[in-house]
Amino acid sequence: MNKDDIYSIKQLLSSPKNIVIVPHKNPDGDAIGSTLGLYHYLIKGNHNTNVLTPNDYPSFLKWIPGEDTILKHDSQPAECEALIHKADIIFTLDFNAFHRTGNMATVLEQSEAIKIMIDHHQAPDDYATYMFSDVNMSSTCEMIYHFIDMLGDVAQIDATIATCLYTGIMTDTGSFRFLSTTSTTHRIVANLIEKGANNTQIHNNVYDSNSYNRLQLLGCALSNLKVIPESKTAYITLSQDELNTYNYTKGDTEGVVNYGLSLDGIVLAAIFIEDKQEGIIKISLRSKGDFSVNEMSRAHFNGGGHTNAAGGRSEKTLQETVEKFISILPEYNNALNNE
Ligand code: 5GP
Ligand code: MN
Repeated sequence: MNKDDIYSIKQLLSSPKNIVIVPHKNPDGDAIGSTLGLYHYLIKGNHNTNVLTPNDYPSFLKWIPGEDTILKHDSQPAECEALIHKADIIFTLDFNAFHRTGNMATVLEQSEAIKIMIDHHQAPDDYATYMFSDVNMSSTCEMIYHFIDMLGDVAQIDATIATCLYTGIMTDTGSFRFLSTTSTTHRIVANLIEKGANNTQIHNNVYDSNSYNRLQLLGCALSNLKVIPESKTAYITLSQDELNTYNYTKGDTEGVVNYGLSLDGIVLAAIFIEDKQEGIIKISLRSKGDFSVNEMSRAHFNGGGHTNAAGGRSEKTLQETVEKFISILPEYNNALNNE
C-alpha cells in the first residue's frame, strides 16, 4: 500500500459510505479483533458499517466490544447478501483468497464494490482494489493499527478499538512469543494499553474461560499425543466420537496443537480433527524456525497459512490421513533435523 493508495482511501472515506467488513471462515481472535477494531474506527467516521462473518466463532471471543452486532452468513444469508450488494467498499481481513470465506465466496467475487485487503497470509490472490498484504506482520490487528496510523488517525484509537486490536495481536502471537512478534509489535501493544486496553482482563476473557468439558477434551487430546523422534514431529488426533464424549463446541480445540510443539526438541506439530458433518479431517500444523508448514499444507493438505502456522483438510478417514502424514515425513527429515 503506497502513499497514492492511502491518499485515495482517505478521499474515499471522507464522506459516509456503505461498508462491509469480512474475515475468513471459522474466525479466530485476530479475525474478530481486526474486523471489530476497524468497525469501531469506521463508525466514528459516520460510515454505515457491518461486520459479516461466514459462520460462528468460539465463545471465548463473545465479549469483544461490538461482537453482538456481527451478522453470520450461514444463519442470515439474505441479510448478509443484501448488505454486500449495497456496499460501496468491502474490507477483507485476515485472509488471502475468497474461497477462505466458504459460502460467501461467490457473492463477494461478484460484488463490484471497492475491495480493500488487509492480511498477513502468504501468496495473496489478486482481487483487491487496494492491497495491504505483509507476511512479516504478527497479525491483521497489528496491520489495522498501521492502517489507521497511515490514515493519520492514531488519535482516533480509543479504549474500544484498542481492546479489539490487543485481543487479536495477543491471540495471533501466542501471547507475544511467536517469531512474528517484533519490537514494533510491543510498541503498538504498549500504545494500546495506554489507550485503555485492559491487558489482564483481555487475557482472562480469552484464556481463563474454559468449560470443564473443554479441559477434559484437552486431557483426551494429550493422551492421544504421539511422537516420531526421527522426524522431530508430534501429532494429536481427535475423533468425532471423542469430541462428542466431551460435548465439543466451537473453539474447544483451539491451541491444542501447540502442546505438541511444547515438547523438547520437537520442530513440527500437527493435530487431526475429525468432522463428520463436513466429511473432512481438519488439520492444523505448527512449526519452529524456518520449517514451512505453509508449504507442507499447500503440497499435501489443500491448505496454507504462514511459515509456522498453517491449516488444511483431508477427505480421507482419520486413520488414512494420519498414515499419509507419516508417509510424507521422510521427505522432510533433512529439513526437520536441521532446525
Ligand atoms: P489453524 O490451524 O489455526 O486453523 O490455522 C493456522 C493458520 O493457517 C491461520 O492463519 C489460518 O488462517 C490459516 N489456515 C487455516 N486453514 C487454512 C486453509 O485451509 N487454507 C489456507 N490457505 N489457510 C488456512
Ligand atoms: Mn491472523
